Amino acid sequence: MAKKVQIIIKSCDRRVLELEQVKNWLVANGYKLSNNHYSVDKTADIIILTTCGVTQMHEDFTFRMLDRINAGKKPGAEVILGGCVPEINPERTEREFGGPTFSPRSYEKLDQIFNMDRKLCEFERPNLYKMEGLYRSDVGNTLDTVKYVAGLNFRSILRGLRLRATNRKTFYIQIHEGCSMGCTYCAIQKAIGPLRNSKPVDEVISEFREGLEKGYGHFRLIGDCAGSYGRDIGTNLGELLGRISEIGEPFTLELTDINPVFLKVIFEPVKTLCRQKRLSNLYIPIQSGNDRVLGLMHRRYDVAETRRMLLELKEAAPKDFRIGTSVIVGFPSESEEEMRDTADFCNDMAFDWIFCHGFSPRPGTPAADLPDQLSEEEVTARVEEFREMINDKNSVVLDFK
Ligand code: SF4
Repeated sequence: MAKKVQIIIKSCDRRVLELEQVKNWLVANGYKLSNNHYSVDKTADIIILTTCGVTQMHEDFTFRMLDRINAGKKPGAEVILGGCVPEINPERTEREFGGPTFSPRSYEKLDQIFNMDRKLCEFERPNLYKMEGLYRSDVGNTLDTVKYVAGLNFRSILRGLRLRATNRKTFYIQIHEGCSMGCTYCAIQKAIGPLRNSKPVDEVISEFREGLEKGYGHFRLIGDCAGSYGRDIGTNLGELLGRISEIGEPFTLELTDINPVFLKVIFEPVKTLCRQKRLSNLYIPIQSGNDRVLGLMHRRYDVAETRRMLLELKEAAPKDFRIGTSVIVGFPSESEEEMRDTADFCNDMAFDWIFCHGFSPRPGTPAADLPDQLSEEEVTARVEEFREMINDKNSVVLDFK
């Protein structure tokens, strides 16, 4: 009888797409996939959990979920931990989990764990995935899910429904892997590895055309730091977007995870795509609206110039163009005035959504050793203060609660 695998994914869209490849590999090797995405499958022989480790809250969520899985799984079922946490905090993973792990930079470990005829690398990274389960809800039982949804404001529910509806018609193209930007607060780099495997422009264009031929009209280019696309192969995202803007057929496009340091490189082709009414969404994490704090974060862009370019893009874009960002408040030595700069930037831009993270010192990052760290209570208070400073309070998406 085929063994059953439950895959619980609490990760970003890059990891979700990579796990789609893992699913195809498991099925091709005779495994059955659980279709339970809301609670621990008591009939699964193997449970794979992948999570995010970007902040302390995400990491704590991971170990809370492992406790839930171990409490709910059938006796003898194996648990495998994937995603970024095993690389970000290997000591805690060994101490509190101690089971088999893999990460975005070590998928080949799955071949060793499963030891099957067909290898994972024989399978292509798909272009489609179906959103399952609830990203932020503890898997445990349906009551948690109901409590979670009940706690959402109307705008968040609408956003969730819109994401699901868009997901079903989106053709995803992973254009590169890893990141070499060196932001001082970022532990993700440890898990994803350096920038690599940028697909040549012609290859991305032919994948794009493949999506059009299959009847898809909505596309998302994804990468851990999509703005840095092509630096490892002598091209850049500006060249790629220029080619995409020359495609004749109708389509809409989403750009995500664009570090503003690359805005200059992509400005003209993005403006063209805005004028063509083809760019529907842009996610550009500014992290701070203060140049001194950006310097401490090792994010090398100028606030005034970034604001000017983003406002110009909004001007050129159609009314339904949506732009979002993420910010970190409570960064070491950040003053109230400097946080006010971030809020002013966000209010000037009138972002459609703002992921607001309270700074948490991540293991092995330079920012964790910076002087003038704020206490956890101060950081939590800053997050609330920040939301109070934002004109459109419902646009602020707070971190895990
Ligand atoms: S751009 Fe910065 S925050 Fe984003 S993955 Fe790279 S190092 Fe981390």
